[in-house]
Amino acid sequence: MVTIGILGLQGGVREHALALAACGASVRVVKSPADTSAMDGLILPGGESTAISRLTRLAGLEAPLRRLIERGLPVWGTCAGAIMLGLGGTFGCLEAEIVRNAYGPQLHSTIAHGDFIHRTIPMVFIRAPRIARAGSKTVVLGRLGEEIVALREGAILATTFHPELSRDLTVTRYFLDMAREGARRFYA
Ligand code: GLN
Repeated sequence: MVTIGILGLQGGVREHALALAACGASVRVVKSPADTSAMDGLILPGGESTAISRLTRLAGLEAPLRRLIERGLPVWGTCAGAIMLGLGGTFGCLEAEIVRNAYGPQLHSTIAHGDFIHRTIPMVFIRAPRIARAGSKTVVLGRLGEEIVALREGAILATTFHPELSRDLTVTRYFLDMAREGARRFYA
């Protein structure tokens, strides 16, 4: 069974845990460096990116998580988590310019149907960031109209929407496949 860590300092931690459990994965809530061993993947949840970034630093998690991501641990950032992965963010490991609150105030939060790989799935946006530019090594996995809403670069996945807030498990399953694949390489 794969074990997925969820950075558990602020934001949609429980919702990701429920979606992972529904897919049969084992979940570890990561709150301190002691929680970071033997994970097959890591989720940076949605929430408030400045708060999560600050708490990550205060918890002494910034350096250990950066090291794991640099070593190739599969990581998925949703919304605020995506901001932390993008250029200028806490980890800055995904070559993408991700602009915070790009669609305006809370009133413009919405549920829409967009494409993730070859499926149309529900997408929940809450004060979503916008992927303004994606680097040449990235692969676009999800779009809503012209907008890029899911992006992958190697073992890094970013979504500007919240798959864990809908009942559709497509993206969670996709990340679990990345984690299984990564685990084979990571521990080889
Ligand atoms: N607006 C939040 C931020 O900039 C992200 C919102 C979310 O994660 N749903 O941190």
